[in-house]
Amino acid sequence: MITFAKEFKNAAAHVTGQFELRAFMRRALGGYEVTRDKTRGKYQNWSDARQAAAEIKWDAVNHLDRYLQEFISKLEARGTRVYVAADADHARDYILQVAKENKVRSIIKAKSMTTEEIHLNHALEKDGHSVFESDLGEYIVQLRGEAPYHFVFPAMHLTREQISELFQKELGSAPTNDPEELTMIARRIMRDKYVQADMGISGANFAVAETGMISITENEGNARLTCALPKIHVAVMGIEKVLPRLEDLALFLPMLATMGTGQALTCYNSLYSGPRQPGEVDGPEQFHLVLLDNRRTELLADAEQRDSLHCIRCGACLNVCPIFKNVGGHSYGTTYQGPIGSVITPHLRGLQNWKHLSSASSLCGACTEVCPVGIDLHHHLLHNRRNAMHEKPLWWEKILYAGFVFLMRRPGLYRVAGKLGAIFFPLHKLVNGTALDPLQSWTKTREFPAPAQESFAEYWERRKREGNHGRQ
Ligand code: SF4
Repeated sequence: MITFAKEFKNAAAHVTGQFELRAFMRRALGGYEVTRDKTRGKYQNWSDARQAAAEIKWDAVNHLDRYLQEFISKLEARGTRVYVAADADHARDYILQVAKENKVRSIIKAKSMTTEEIHLNHALEKDGHSVFESDLGEYIVQLRGEAPYHFVFPAMHLTREQISELFQKELGSAPTNDPEELTMIARRIMRDKYVQADMGISGANFAVAETGMISITENEGNARLTCALPKIHVAVMGIEKVLPRLEDLALFLPMLATMGTGQALTCYNSLYSGPRQPGEVDGPEQFHLVLLDNRRTELLADAEQRDSLHCIRCGACLNVCPIFKNVGGHSYGTTYQGPIGSVITPHLRGLQNWKHLSSASSLCGACTEVCPVGIDLHHHLLHNRRNAMHEKPLWWEKILYAGFVFLMRRPGLYRVAGKLGAIFFPLHKLVNGTALDPLQSWTKTREFPAPAQESFAEYWERRKREGNHGRQ
């Protein structure tokens, strides 16, 4: 049986061999970094803003029970039907039920990683509904039958030429590499879908407990149409998205835009607080909010890694990660890619099946440094490695470490073992990197380091003999 770890290794090996794609990604992310830094430079004090954001998220996550209750009761008071889904199955079943009760045929969707997490499109299509993604990037990957490559830039791996070819093939459009024309092709098709849709499905970037509102931030105006035009609006969000106060958005909206796309603020920022009220002329007749747990409460119970629930999904940690840049988004095989994906996926989908992602890191700490809410990402990767090891130690690692401890406690024996290692090391060269090499997976692409000619104890003794005690 092929494991998730093996799939990751195979996919990563494949992408690292695609030099053109990697160069294309580097150029794209290089451009993002310049814009991001320019916008970030306009903050009076970025590190104070970051500290404030981390403290607000800490408060929200550590008092989630209180803030969620406040949020839900305010929404329900205005006629929103709130459903708390324990897992992906419950969330999907609820949405399918709403669609069935209302005889929904066509569904339009705004970008939502939470719906990707619960594989909602697949379930809806299987149940006979037509589903259209309205975000341009999402629409492109939907036409290709792919998952998003990056949770902010879903189609970042595709060139204009590839998108043009896709549109010619799937939509019968004329060839063009002009981004504006390509956008217009998709927009013309999408306009009809908004009008025909019986249901609009969105995510939420933030939820405000104080006022009982969800906040959606976007650049294309598609989410506004998705939420306002169809008679039913279903919003799906993780329970960790709650912020205490409306004024918190004054910090978080620009921060998300700065780190997400390098903009000072995204073009459209909307707040939704319920279905159409008496006397209002527009808005959906029904508003359903699905609050997804899906093992987030397990993460909440883990005091050491709880801060990973602070994530605002800006994608900045992906953009600076040397692993993401070289293996690409699809290799991860997860909804959330890059460093934050490697931290939370083992919690959301099982530590033993997904622990390999925590090892796919150089631990350089670039992710932690860039994270606007100060999540200690690279240390959490280490925590996952440690937890996986404690939960299910590998037999050969147990023997290896037991042997190491045994030798370290016996200096005489340790010295003898060191000498023997140095004597027999040349033999390893005979099998280095071959199938006979017990370290093959490591030595296939690297030379095994030769033992030092002189141990530290020997070096120290020699220094003393030579009378060299000072600093060199
Ligand atoms: S972990 Fe931090 S940098 Fe990464 S997506 Fe979340 S908020 Fe952004």
